[in-house]
Amino acid sequence: MASPQLDQISLTQLKGVGPALEKKLNVIGIYNVQDLLFHLPLRYEDRTRINPIGGVTVGENVQLQGEIVSCNIQFGRRRSLQCSLSDDSGIISLRFFYFSAAQKNSLAAGTKLRCYGEVRRGRTGFEIYHPEYKVLQDFEEVPIADALTPIYPTTEGLQQARLRNIVGQALKYLEGSIAVQDYLPAEILSELGLHYLTDAIRLVHQPPADAPLKWINAGTNPGQKRLAFEELLAHRLCMRRFRNDSDAQTAPKLTANDKLLQQFLEGLAFSLTGGQQSAYQQISRDLSSACPMLRLLQGDVGSGKTVVAALSALQAIGNGFQVALMAPTETLAEQHLLNFEQWFTPLEIQVGWLSGKTKGTLRKKQLESVASGECQLLIGTHALFQDDVCYQRLGLIIIDEQHRFGVHQRLALRDKAARHRLNPHQLVMTATPIPRTLAMSAYADLDISIIDELPPGRMPVNTAVISNDRRDQVIQRIEKTCTENNQAYWVCTLIEESEALQCQAAEVTADSLTKLLPNIKIGLIHGRLKSKQKASVMEKFKAGSLQLLVATTVIEVGVDVPNASLMVIENPERLGLAQLHQLRGRVGRGSTRSHCILLYQSPLSKAGKQRLAVMRESTDGFYIAEKDLELRGPGQVLGTQQTGLMSFKVADIARDAYLLDEVRDASELVMRQYPEIVDPLVRRWLGDRTHYANV
Ligand code: ADP
Ligand code: MG
Repeated sequence: MASPQLDQISLTQLKGVGPALEKKLNVIGIYNVQDLLFHLPLRYEDRTRINPIGGVTVGENVQLQGEIVSCNIQFGRRRSLQCSLSDDSGIISLRFFYFSAAQKNSLAAGTKLRCYGEVRRGRTGFEIYHPEYKVLQDFEEVPIADALTPIYPTTEGLQQARLRNIVGQALKYLEGSIAVQDYLPAEILSELGLHYLTDAIRLVHQPPADAPLKWINAGTNPGQKRLAFEELLAHRLCMRRFRNDSDAQTAPKLTANDKLLQQFLEGLAFSLTGGQQSAYQQISRDLSSACPMLRLLQGDVGSGKTVVAALSALQAIGNGFQVALMAPTETLAEQHLLNFEQWFTPLEIQVGWLSGKTKGTLRKKQLESVASGECQLLIGTHALFQDDVCYQRLGLIIIDEQHRFGVHQRLALRDKAARHRLNPHQLVMTATPIPRTLAMSAYADLDISIIDELPPGRMPVNTAVISNDRRDQVIQRIEKTCTENNQAYWVCTLIEESEALQCQAAEVTADSLTKLLPNIKIGLIHGRLKSKQKASVMEKFKAGSLQLLVATTVIEVGVDVPNASLMVIENPERLGLAQLHQLRGRVGRGSTRSHCILLYQSPLSKAGKQRLAVMRESTDGFYIAEKDLELRGPGQVLGTQQTGLMSFKVADIARDAYLLDEVRDASELVMRQYPEIVDPLVRRWLGDRTHYANV
């Protein structure tokens, strides 16, 4: 008989766990005893000693022990219960703003107490608000902790002490004959000096008292390292498995059609940069093989990814296949439509359009021409892959990702394509660079091409960080720029995630700027305008008959006016660095020196200051992306914090980046030599989060 597994032991087997508590544990993702072992502490507290009351300082977390000398209800601005606790060295107040009569009675003068909390300066001198405490019969009754005290992520109504007790019971199982399975091969453990799983789990839940607290909380505990490694490995294996599945399928072989390419390149007003050429060569090689291409095209804002996408599309179309080009927003999709119509119409290629707003006969016609194969390139939003869209011969999907299609949607899309028995090639383009570490994890299923240069003649944008108190000066600056025959943008940023409010803010700003700058011709553009209105405003701004364009972040994408040399971004502190970088990329496209003013609302938080300083110091998208990751974390950077795929239990991509090369090598080894552990590892760390079909 196989020995019982910890993941088959139900929570109610544990002492004190009934159905009600079990439900609460379920809320935080714990369903069995093994889950408890993988429910890891957020941080630790040091309760291995008793601090003398006379020696405490403000801000310190302390464990105290003494006798209550008085206990009174006080009526100040807020009613509170105040107890004075004394030991040989001094006296301190414990204050409770919420308390019951029974609690007051249990804390009467003469009671012996041990408590833990943060020291602050209060009404009576040093105080602790709502300490965790235990009433003692005598001081030796309860031994003090001999390990650091873990603090776990928890949920309402589930106290730390209770959770600690339950985890403690789960840890006891490890001492018995029921092991938690260590899937990692000895070969990997010894090569990397990693702990055995059981030791790692113990070390993380009950680090020894002499382990340095900082060292532990910084996540460099060897136990944590082992677990982070395993988790990162599981994620990578999951992505690599998608890749393997895909490699086993057959895609159409699309060879380059030199005549069509020649014709296209001759029509361009410029020649390709070296970076564009080599990226396209890589893509072209992939497309001409029968294995589906899965490639990520990275390049800084303005590096010219669109042209590379166009070349790729031509290669598919030249072989009689269709191409779908999907963008995350309607505005960006429209911008692509304009570009591609202009490029492809002279080549007699049929370009179609489909968005969620395409309805009625228009939609019907469009779907027909896609189904018949008459439409060769279909551009739009994720409407391109709704169930009623049937392609006659789809050969290539291009996704202009903008970070907004998360990993999930991308995989869901592939699922969908597979359900329709299509194995097209896939090209994913990101708006701004992604740090190498993130790319290695979130895009482990993709090959990567990088355009590492900008078209010639671009001058870096000069960036200033200015407080809103100096708005007048900024407005004068706009006047000067516009009267010197240059153009400017004024960008109003997101308010409370509401598009309606954002548009309203842009309207108000446009009005007030119109009053302040009567000699400047001002236009307004935002997401609520009809496509036609937007196009007409953009046309006027391009032609120079508008000098200042007040806009929401819709201009983040696709807008291309080389004569614009000044951009003011209001409340830049609300945006991520990648988005600011993307916005700023709208200027600095012409031959004059361009400027960007980050007009912040003071006071700025410390983090806000740091972030804006990064923008001032650098125009290098890869550097900015690294900083963004460091300052905000991977969920924010990839826009996946809600979707969960890139959210880790133990690992932290920024902190644990140093492990990633080893994770990559280990994943190759595992797939080659230990394929049987892929499934259980993925299940342990990702659970059933690997289903994307319903996105
Ligand atoms: P992104 O990589 O940000 O999507 P785009 O494809 O929008 O960049 O290109 C930015 C601008 O640079 C466009 O106006 C495009 O026409 C222009 N461009 C692209 N490639 C070149 C090149 N090789 N030489 C000069 N201009 C180029
Ligand atoms: Mg682009």
